[in-house]
Amino acid sequence: MTDIPLTLDVSLGVTIPDRHARGRAVRLGKSIDDILVRHRYPPVIETMLAEALVLTALLGALLKDGGQMTLQAQTENGIVDLLVCDYLDGELRGYVRHDPERLAEAGPAPSLFALFGKGYLAITFDQASTKERYQGIVPLEGESLGQAAESYFTQSEQIPSIVRLAAAKGQSGWTAGGVLFQHLPEGEEGRERIHTKLDHPDWPHVAVLAGSVKETELLDRSLALDELVWRLFHEEEEVRILPTVALSRGCRCNPDYVRSVIARFPVEEQAAMVGEDGFIRVDCQFCATDFPIALADVGSPQSS
Ligand SMILES: [Zn+2]
Repeated sequence: MTDIPLTLDVSLGVTIPDRHARGRAVRLGKSIDDILVRHRYPPVIETMLAEALVLTALLGALLKDGGQMTLQAQTENGIVDLLVCDYLDGELRGYVRHDPERLAEAGPAPSLFALFGKGYLAITFDQASTKERYQGIVPLEGESLGQAAESYFTQSEQIPSIVRLAAAKGQSGWTAGGVLFQHLPEGEEGRERIHTKLDHPDWPHVAVLAGSVKETELLDRSLALDELVWRLFHEEEEVRILPTVALSRGCRCNPDYVRSVIARFPVEEQAAMVGEDGFIRVDCQFCATDFPIALADVGSPQSS
């Protein structure tokens, strides 16, 4: 059992052994507020980023050894030209680059295609223990980010998957939730992914039940995630609960680290970085902030 309340800013993993399926449910509250408050995006962009962060939390939890997961959506000429989110040890962060004027022209509820145009979704897993990197890239297609993620799993990993995402702002701030259920390839350890049967008889059953989750359930701040999963799969023989992960906003930008990086540059180059205000300005797009770094605080190149 766990001490973490299973309602907000938490991710819960489950397996359904008899159906060869695994799943994860995520709900975010304060962590979304903490991220969005820094950016002041229009509501359409806020909702999209909140859903992308839920997807990031769902995918990040697939890493078993505490590595990093990066989700990046990039377009050639979309209203949104870049969306980046990442996950490391339960910490989430993200930002969006968009054209406010074109967004305003697109109306109150633009489709995914209207926002991104022709784009692609890249998902990168950096394993902590092996230092291996695995990246899959798929066209950004479908009605929603959830559908784009489903096609990522089908096309890039040959794993049938159901993804549902929702986000809304209410009286108590943001709530965002989602589920990811996947068919577990048989012989995962030894067999090549190419042999995964996309038409496994258990999968349609799991997909229908997982896909029946309601937006109101994903966003119900009082509905614990284990209850949510139980509502969907209460007729199954066995549903096993995996360890939960507490989620929060977190960024790795850190003035001390930045100073140590700048300290490695030759003194002349350090001097060239100083702006008109007398500081080196280091920008963090995730936090929508920049740090003024005084050259006097950087230290000499030899000290690092
Ligand atoms: Zn930052």
